[in-house]
Amino acid sequence: MVMVDIPKSHPRYESLMVREKLVSGFRGGAVACEGLIAQGRGEAFDYILGERTHDVALKAIKAAACVLLLAKKPVISVNGNAAALVVGDIVTLSRLLLCPVEVNLFYRSREREDAVRKILVDGGASSVLGVSDDASERIPGLLHERGRVSASGIFCADVVLVPLEDGDRTQALRAMGKTVVTVDLSPFSRSAQAADVTIVDNIVRCYPLLCSEIERLKGFDDAQLRGIVDEFDNQKNLSLMFTAMRDRLSLAACGGELNG
Ligand code: ATP
Ligand code: MG
Repeated sequence: MVMVDIPKSHPRYESLMVREKLVSGFRGGAVACEGLIAQGRGEAFDYILGERTHDVALKAIKAAACVLLLAKKPVISVNGNAAALVVGDIVTLSRLLLCPVEVNLFYRSREREDAVRKILVDGGASSVLGVSDDASERIPGLLHERGRVSASGIFCADVVLVPLEDGDRTQALRAMGKTVVTVDLSPFSRSAQAADVTIVDNIVRCYPLLCSEIERLKGFDDAQLRGIVDEFDNQKNLSLMFTAMRDRLSLAACGGELNG
Protein backbone atom coordinates (compact mmCIF):
# COMPACT_ATOMS: atom_id res chain seq x y z
CA MET A 1 0.00 0.00 0.00
CA VAL A 2 1.34 3.42 -0.97
CA MET A 3 1.27 5.83 1.96
CA VAL A 4 1.53 9.25 0.31
CA ASP A 5 -0.82 10.81 -2.19
CA ILE A 6 1.34 12.03 -5.09
CA PRO A 7 -0.43 13.99 -7.86
CA LYS A 8 0.02 12.42 -11.29
CA SER A 9 0.94 15.84 -12.63
CA HIS A 10 4.11 15.94 -10.53
CA PRO A 11 7.10 16.00 -12.92
CA ARG A 12 8.81 13.23 -10.96
CA TYR A 13 5.66 11.18 -10.41
CA GLU A 14 7.11 7.86 -11.60
CA SER A 15 10.25 8.15 -9.56
CA LEU A 16 8.33 9.24 -6.45
CA MET A 17 5.96 6.29 -6.82
CA VAL A 18 8.93 3.94 -6.95
CA ARG A 19 10.20 5.45 -3.70
CA GLU A 20 6.79 5.02 -2.12
CA LYS A 21 6.73 1.36 -3.09
CA LEU A 22 10.07 0.86 -1.39
CA VAL A 23 9.04 2.77 1.72
CA SER A 24 5.91 0.69 1.97
CA GLY A 25 8.04 -2.48 1.47
CA PHE A 26 10.27 -1.22 4.26
CA ARG A 27 7.31 -0.64 6.58
CA GLY A 28 6.03 -4.14 5.79
CA GLY A 29 9.42 -5.64 6.69
CA ALA A 30 10.48 -6.87 3.24
CA VAL A 31 12.92 -4.07 2.41
CA ALA A 32 15.98 -3.53 4.63
CA CYS A 33 16.84 0.06 5.51
CA GLU A 34 20.09 -0.55 3.63
CA GLY A 35 17.88 -1.36 0.62
CA LEU A 36 16.53 2.19 0.67
CA ILE A 37 20.10 3.49 0.52
CA ALA A 38 20.91 1.13 -2.37
CA GLN A 39 17.95 2.57 -4.29
CA GLY A 40 19.40 6.05 -3.78
CA ARG A 41 22.70 4.96 -5.27
CA GLY A 42 20.85 3.50 -8.24
CA GLU A 43 18.78 6.66 -8.74
CA ALA A 44 21.91 8.79 -9.02
CA PHE A 45 23.08 6.68 -11.96
CA ASP A 46 19.59 6.69 -13.43
CA TYR A 47 19.64 10.50 -13.43
CA ILE A 48 22.83 10.42 -15.47
CA LEU A 49 21.18 7.99 -17.90
CA GLY A 50 18.22 10.35 -18.31
CA GLU A 51 15.95 7.76 -16.65
CA ARG A 52 15.47 5.80 -19.83
CA THR A 53 16.46 2.42 -21.20
CA HIS A 54 19.37 2.88 -23.58
CA ASP A 55 19.86 0.79 -26.74
CA VAL A 56 22.96 -0.69 -25.11
CA ALA A 57 20.79 -1.96 -22.23
CA LEU A 58 18.33 -3.41 -24.77
CA LYS A 59 21.19 -5.50 -26.17
CA ALA A 60 21.94 -6.83 -22.69
CA ILE A 61 18.25 -7.58 -22.16
CA LYS A 62 18.24 -9.60 -25.38
CA ALA A 63 21.35 -11.56 -24.33
CA ALA A 64 19.85 -12.10 -20.86
CA ALA A 65 16.64 -13.47 -22.40
CA CYS A 66 18.66 -15.93 -24.51
CA VAL A 67 20.81 -17.06 -21.57
CA LEU A 68 17.68 -17.67 -19.49
CA LEU A 69 15.91 -19.53 -22.31
CA LEU A 70 18.96 -21.76 -22.86
CA ALA A 71 19.31 -22.54 -19.14
CA LYS A 72 18.61 -26.08 -17.95
CA LYS A 73 17.86 -24.95 -14.42
CA PRO A 74 17.35 -21.20 -14.13
CA VAL A 75 16.40 -19.58 -10.83
CA ILE A 76 15.09 -16.06 -10.21
CA SER A 77 16.62 -14.60 -7.09
CA VAL A 78 14.47 -12.09 -5.22
CA ASN A 79 15.55 -9.62 -2.57
CA GLY A 80 13.38 -7.13 -0.68
CA ASN A 81 13.80 -4.28 -3.18
CA ALA A 82 12.98 -6.49 -6.17
CA ALA A 83 9.87 -7.87 -4.46
CA ALA A 84 8.66 -4.39 -3.52
CA LEU A 85 9.24 -2.98 -7.02
CA VAL A 86 8.50 -5.65 -9.62
CA VAL A 87 6.60 -8.58 -8.11
CA GLY A 88 4.27 -8.87 -11.12
CA ASP A 89 7.18 -9.19 -13.55
CA ILE A 90 8.97 -11.69 -11.30
CA VAL A 91 5.91 -13.94 -11.36
CA THR A 92 5.57 -13.51 -15.15
CA LEU A 93 9.24 -14.43 -15.61
CA SER A 94 8.89 -17.56 -13.50
CA ARG A 95 5.86 -18.63 -15.57
CA LEU A 96 7.58 -17.94 -18.88
CA LEU A 97 10.72 -19.83 -17.86
CA LEU A 98 8.90 -22.45 -15.77
CA CYS A 99 11.41 -21.84 -13.04
CA PRO A 100 11.37 -21.22 -9.29
CA VAL A 101 11.75 -17.93 -7.50
CA GLU A 102 14.03 -17.89 -4.48
CA VAL A 103 14.14 -15.47 -1.58
CA ASN A 104 17.82 -14.52 -1.42
CA LEU A 105 18.65 -11.87 1.14
CA PHE A 106 21.84 -10.05 2.01
CA TYR A 107 20.27 -8.93 5.32
CA ARG A 108 18.50 -12.20 6.12
CA SER A 109 16.11 -12.63 9.02
CA ARG A 110 13.11 -14.92 9.49
CA GLU A 111 10.77 -11.91 9.46
CA ARG A 112 12.21 -10.51 6.23
CA GLU A 113 12.11 -13.94 4.53
CA ASP A 114 8.42 -14.22 5.39
CA ALA A 115 7.63 -10.67 4.32
CA VAL A 116 9.28 -11.21 0.91
CA ARG A 117 7.59 -14.59 0.50
CA LYS A 118 4.21 -13.02 1.28
CA ILE A 119 4.68 -10.38 -1.44
CA LEU A 120 5.56 -13.13 -3.92
CA VAL A 121 2.69 -15.43 -2.95
CA ASP A 122 0.19 -12.54 -2.94
CA GLY A 123 1.57 -11.62 -6.38
CA GLY A 124 0.77 -15.11 -7.70
CA ALA A 125 4.01 -17.09 -7.24
CA SER A 126 3.18 -20.78 -6.91
CA SER A 127 6.28 -21.94 -5.10
CA VAL A 128 8.85 -19.85 -3.29
CA LEU A 129 12.24 -21.29 -2.35
CA GLY A 130 14.83 -20.02 0.11
CA VAL A 131 12.69 -19.51 3.20
CA SER A 132 13.56 -20.89 6.64
CA ASP A 133 15.00 -24.46 6.57
CA ASP A 134 14.78 -24.54 2.78
CA ALA A 135 17.81 -22.19 2.68
CA SER A 136 19.97 -24.97 4.08
CA GLU A 137 22.85 -24.94 1.59
CA ARG A 138 25.76 -22.53 1.54
CA ILE A 139 27.55 -20.57 -1.15
CA PRO A 140 31.21 -21.39 -0.47
CA GLY A 141 33.20 -18.42 0.80
CA LEU A 142 30.25 -16.41 2.12
CA LEU A 143 29.94 -16.40 5.87
CA HIS A 144 26.85 -16.55 8.06
CA GLU A 145 23.38 -15.69 6.79
CA ARG A 146 24.76 -14.12 3.61
CA GLY A 147 25.76 -17.47 2.21
CA ARG A 148 22.49 -19.37 2.68
CA VAL A 149 20.64 -20.64 -0.39
CA SER A 150 18.09 -23.32 -1.27
CA ALA A 151 19.47 -26.79 -2.08
CA SER A 152 16.92 -27.18 -4.87
CA GLY A 153 17.24 -23.58 -6.08
CA ILE A 154 20.30 -21.36 -6.44
CA PHE A 155 22.64 -24.05 -5.10
CA CYS A 156 22.06 -26.32 -8.09
CA ALA A 157 21.01 -23.73 -10.70
CA ASP A 158 23.04 -23.29 -13.86
CA VAL A 159 21.80 -19.74 -14.49
CA VAL A 160 20.81 -17.26 -11.79
CA LEU A 161 19.04 -13.95 -12.36
CA VAL A 162 20.20 -11.84 -9.40
CA PRO A 163 19.24 -8.17 -9.66
CA LEU A 164 20.55 -5.42 -7.35
CA GLU A 165 23.07 -7.82 -5.89
CA ASP A 166 26.12 -7.30 -3.73
CA GLY A 167 29.43 -7.76 -5.55
CA ASP A 168 30.84 -10.39 -3.20
CA ARG A 169 27.87 -12.63 -3.66
CA THR A 170 27.92 -12.24 -7.45
CA GLN A 171 31.59 -13.17 -7.49
CA ALA A 172 30.92 -16.18 -5.23
CA LEU A 173 28.16 -17.42 -7.58
CA ARG A 174 30.53 -17.09 -10.53
CA ALA A 175 33.15 -19.00 -8.59
CA MET A 176 30.59 -21.83 -8.21
CA GLY A 177 30.49 -22.01 -12.01
CA LYS A 178 27.08 -20.41 -12.44
CA THR A 179 26.11 -18.07 -15.21
CA VAL A 180 24.98 -14.83 -13.58
CA VAL A 181 22.60 -12.29 -15.09
CA THR A 182 22.27 -9.08 -13.11
CA VAL A 183 20.47 -5.75 -13.23
CA ASP A 184 22.43 -2.82 -11.85
CA LEU A 185 22.19 0.88 -12.62
CA SER A 186 25.83 1.30 -11.67
CA PRO A 187 28.23 -0.04 -14.30
CA PHE A 188 30.99 0.58 -11.74
CA SER A 189 29.68 -1.93 -9.19
CA ARG A 190 31.54 -5.16 -8.65
CA SER A 191 28.32 -7.04 -9.49
CA ALA A 192 28.05 -5.28 -12.82
CA GLN A 193 31.69 -6.06 -13.57
CA ALA A 194 31.56 -9.69 -12.40
CA ALA A 195 28.33 -10.88 -14.03
CA ASP A 196 28.08 -12.70 -17.36
CA VAL A 197 25.29 -10.41 -18.52
CA THR A 198 24.74 -7.00 -16.90
CA ILE A 199 21.64 -4.99 -17.68
CA VAL A 200 22.45 -1.39 -16.75
CA ASP A 201 18.93 -0.10 -16.33
CA ASN A 202 16.33 0.49 -13.65
CA ILE A 203 14.70 -2.78 -12.65
CA VAL A 204 11.26 -1.17 -12.95
CA ARG A 205 11.90 -0.49 -16.64
CA CYS A 206 13.89 -3.55 -17.67
CA TYR A 207 11.95 -6.40 -16.04
CA PRO A 208 8.85 -5.79 -18.19
CA LEU A 209 11.14 -5.57 -21.24
CA LEU A 210 12.88 -8.80 -20.25
CA CYS A 211 9.48 -10.53 -20.04
CA SER A 212 8.50 -9.39 -23.54
CA GLU A 213 11.91 -10.30 -24.94
CA ILE A 214 11.63 -13.85 -23.54
CA GLU A 215 8.12 -14.09 -24.98
CA ARG A 216 9.45 -12.94 -28.38
CA LEU A 217 12.47 -15.26 -28.44
CA LYS A 218 10.94 -18.39 -26.99
CA GLY A 219 10.20 -19.81 -30.44
CA PHE A 220 13.85 -19.54 -31.48
CA ASP A 221 15.89 -22.75 -31.56
CA ASP A 222 18.91 -23.26 -29.32
CA ALA A 223 21.43 -22.59 -32.10
CA GLN A 224 19.87 -19.19 -32.83
CA LEU A 225 19.80 -18.30 -29.13
CA ARG A 226 23.38 -19.44 -28.70
CA GLY A 227 24.42 -17.31 -31.66
CA ILE A 228 23.01 -14.21 -29.96
CA VAL A 229 24.76 -15.08 -26.68
CA ASP A 230 28.08 -15.72 -28.44
CA GLU A 231 27.91 -12.31 -30.10
CA PHE A 232 27.34 -10.57 -26.78
CA ASP A 233 30.39 -9.27 -24.92
CA ASN A 234 29.57 -8.01 -21.41
CA GLN A 235 32.76 -5.97 -20.98
CA LYS A 236 32.16 -4.26 -24.31
CA ASN A 237 28.53 -3.62 -23.41
CA LEU A 238 29.60 -2.06 -20.09
CA SER A 239 32.09 0.15 -21.95
CA LEU A 240 29.25 1.34 -24.19
CA MET A 241 27.15 2.14 -21.11
CA PHE A 242 30.01 4.24 -19.74
CA THR A 243 30.16 5.97 -23.11
CA ALA A 244 26.41 6.68 -22.99
CA MET A 245 26.86 8.20 -19.53
CA ARG A 246 29.87 10.22 -20.65
CA ASP A 247 27.89 11.56 -23.62
CA ARG A 248 25.05 12.71 -21.35
CA LEU A 249 27.54 14.37 -19.01
CA SER A 250 29.29 16.05 -21.95
CA LEU A 251 25.94 17.35 -23.18
CA ALA A 252 25.17 18.73 -19.72
CA ALA A 253 28.62 20.28 -19.50
CA CYS A 254 28.03 22.08 -22.83
CA GLY A 255 24.61 23.35 -21.73
CA GLY A 256 22.80 21.10 -24.24
CA GLU A 257 19.15 20.04 -24.14
CA LEU A 258 19.05 17.05 -21.78
CA ASN A 259 15.43 16.05 -22.19
CA GLY A 260 15.57 15.53 -25.96
P1 ATP B 1 28.81 -3.95 -5.48
O1 ATP B 1 28.67 -4.64 -4.16
O2 ATP B 1 28.35 -4.77 -6.64
O3 ATP B 1 30.14 -3.30 -5.71
P2 ATP B 1 27.48 -1.66 -4.39
O4 ATP B 1 28.16 -2.02 -3.11
O5 ATP B 1 27.71 -0.34 -5.02
O6 ATP B 1 27.75 -2.75 -5.48
P3 ATP B 1 25.07 -2.86 -3.42
O7 ATP B 1 24.26 -2.17 -2.40
O8 ATP B 1 25.93 -3.99 -3.04
O9 ATP B 1 25.92 -1.75 -4.18
O10 ATP B 1 24.13 -3.32 -4.62
C1 ATP B 1 23.04 -2.58 -5.07
C2 ATP B 1 23.24 -2.11 -6.49
O11 ATP B 1 21.95 -2.03 -7.05
C3 ATP B 1 23.87 -0.70 -6.60
O12 ATP B 1 24.94 -0.73 -7.53
C4 ATP B 1 22.74 0.18 -7.15
O13 ATP B 1 23.21 1.11 -8.10
C5 ATP B 1 21.83 -0.82 -7.81
N1 ATP B 1 20.40 -0.44 -7.79
C6 ATP B 1 19.68 0.04 -6.75
N2 ATP B 1 18.40 0.25 -7.08
C7 ATP B 1 18.28 -0.14 -8.37
C8 ATP B 1 17.18 -0.19 -9.29
N3 ATP B 1 15.96 0.22 -8.94
N4 ATP B 1 17.41 -0.69 -10.52
C9 ATP B 1 18.66 -1.08 -10.88
N5 ATP B 1 19.73 -1.05 -10.07
C10 ATP B 1 19.55 -0.58 -8.83
MG1 MG C 1 28.01 -4.10 -2.29
